[in-house]
Amino acid sequence: MKQAWKTFATRAVPRYTSYPTAADFTPAVTECDARAWARSVAPGERVSVYIHVPFCEKLCFYCGCATSVPNGYARIANYVAPLHREIDLWAEALAPNHGGIDHLHFGGGSPNALSPDDFKALADHACQAFGMSKDAEIAVEVDPRSMSPEFVDAMAAAGVSRVSFGVQTLAPKVQEAVGRIQPRELLVDGIRRLRAAGIQAVNMDLMYGLPHQTVADVVDAAEFAAEMNASRVSLFGYAHVPWFAKHQSAIDEAALPGLEERFAQAEAGADALVRNGLYAIGLDHFARMDDALTAAARNGTLRRNFQGYTDDPCQTLIGIGATSISQFREGYVQNFKDRRVWQESIENGNLPAERGVVVNDDDRLRARAIEKLMCQLWVDVDAVCREMGASPDALADALETARFLQSAGLCQITGHVITVPAEARLFLRTVAQCFDGRYKPVEARHAKAV
Ligand code: SF4
Repeated sequence: MKQAWKTFATRAVPRYTSYPTAADFTPAVTECDARAWARSVAPGERVSVYIHVPFCEKLCFYCGCATSVPNGYARIANYVAPLHREIDLWAEALAPNHGGIDHLHFGGGSPNALSPDDFKALADHACQAFGMSKDAEIAVEVDPRSMSPEFVDAMAAAGVSRVSFGVQTLAPKVQEAVGRIQPRELLVDGIRRLRAAGIQAVNMDLMYGLPHQTVADVVDAAEFAAEMNASRVSLFGYAHVPWFAKHQSAIDEAALPGLEERFAQAEAGADALVRNGLYAIGLDHFARMDDALTAAARNGTLRRNFQGYTDDPCQTLIGIGATSISQFREGYVQNFKDRRVWQESIENGNLPAERGVVVNDDDRLRARAIEKLMCQLWVDVDAVCREMGASPDALADALETARFLQSAGLCQITGHVITVPAEARLFLRTVAQCFDGRYKPVEARHAKAV
């Protein structure tokens, strides 16, 4: 890594899966706002729906997700009943003439912690309550270790077309160090079962920067993903924030790779994926040449939302389940994190909104610039100002900050176009931060750039 980049590499920066980011959410946004925003969805507008399942059989030490171990099915069953009710509440709150679901995504946690019957019933209910468009996609994040044949059948019967597998690493010593034992054969067998059931699109999540992990381990996992014909691959750096995600303290800090090694792992993993035929997208995604995400990246319609990079064009996302975030043109709303409060709110007939943020015109302008940069590695500042009806100098502050990053080689500025060179791609969030008019450095909250 270039010497000048090292200071930036250890700086904490948001992932910019939204702007404003969750750091700006406050209780000033209420159920009333959520209802008004849901009601104002335009006639015919399609929406996306996300359903959060916050349970896993066992916690992986590196995990930063909102999840827990249920210790028996009773807690999961108690969670499923309010989920059904919440689906109805949102479906009733939305403008009646919206265009139906474009994308339905189950995430977590591990959605396959649900029983096959409960999963199928939830998927069917969401499709029926919101109205499913003919070409809609249903995607599910799955823990391959606990994916039963019955769950695969339930996904196929529900019309699931894409599954995301948490692979992370194949190296036994690393799997042991992160408390996630997952032999290669188990993954191969799981992928075969999915494809035999008609679910062809399998995404894989990989990680670098894990304890004891080496460059060779990352390359091996990348080659495995290509060999298994993964449709999409994400390659994330492990963010060690034990003061924020308590169970990460089970990870031996002394075994974590240093900065240079992390950078080398990220580079080698990306090279291996591209060498094996995947197309590099944005900060940390890769997709097969025939995948819709590659098409979106090439034709300029790629988007970024809470699920990361997406070809989902919807402006409105309804988040269902404790901690889920909904997105509207007017702002963001996050559901109660405390499951009891979330459930009580639903039982009282209220949308379970705990906090959020109202989005103003300046936010929308900055959000568009950040999204463009995060998706295509370049942004034409003048074009964004024109597109959003802002004055030509509305983002002058961002250009000024970017000039400082240009001197460190993190970006190039030609006229009013900011470009992040491919070799500095890991610093994309650092450059995007130039547009962040609300940024407050909160080390505990955000992952480091590399
Ligand atoms: S299975 Fe996934 S969500 Fe669950 S603890 Fe492991 S990484 Fe986190």
